[in-house]
Amino acid sequence: MQATDISKNLKKIRDTFLNQDCLLVAVSKTKPISAIQEAYDAGIRDFGENKVQEIIEKAPALPQDIKWHMIGHLQRNKVKFIVPFIYLIHSVDSLRLLKQINKEAEKINKTIHCLLQVHIAKEGTKFGWNKEELNEFLLGDEIKSMHNIRIKGLMGMATNTENTEIITEEFRTLKVLFEALKAQPLPEIVDMKEISMGMSGDYLLAQQEGSTMVRIGSAIFGSRNYN
Ligand SMILES: *Cc1c(COP(=O)(O)O)cnc(C)c1O
Repeated sequence: MQATDISKNLKKIRDTFLNQDCLLVAVSKTKPISAIQEAYDAGIRDFGENKVQEIIEKAPALPQDIKWHMIGHLQRNKVKFIVPFIYLIHSVDSLRLLKQINKEAEKINKTIHCLLQVHIAKEGTKFGWNKEELNEFLLGDEIKSMHNIRIKGLMGMATNTENTEIITEEFRTLKVLFEALKAQPLPEIVDMKEISMGMSGDYLLAQQEGSTMVRIGSAIFGSRNYN
């Protein structure tokens, strides 16, 4: 992409936002340091990556006030590499992973902010919690011993489809679940504030349904080349 495209794209996207308080997380996976620096220079401070290897290579080469968001499936044996600096883990898709994050955070005396990834799509990813699992966990006893995490909300990915009704329905399901959980007496480590939903193709639908964070990659940086 042309150097100036990134800042133009950012401005275009911002101008369409239905809610200016919604946080824009720029998804920079597969993109070079120079592209991230350009988005940074245009004012972006929140960047999302989906691979531990990539994030630990990029972070030291970029400004230290960047907030790094982990948005991809995280393997338990890699948690220790990101806990020292990660700002928010969106993709906590199991209790086993959450326990590992708590354990590694405890070792270095940190508190890690997490979102629980909910399985809302009809197809696609097999990762995520369902409603019953969330209720059982958030209202159960096990959570009470997790002193080194803060649950800040939920994350979801809609089905990859052109059908806006399906996407809207899935985002709405996440929002309804979020509100239902919030209405319960939750433990102190739970602070239900954020709903991370919406990507390049569906962030407006997500904002319409109450998203507080959108994760946008290709609309900012151009399409990705995985070769
Ligand atoms: C890649 C990715 C995004 C961004 O996707 P775009 O369609 O490029 O905006 C958002 N969320 C997750 C979890 C991703 O892996």
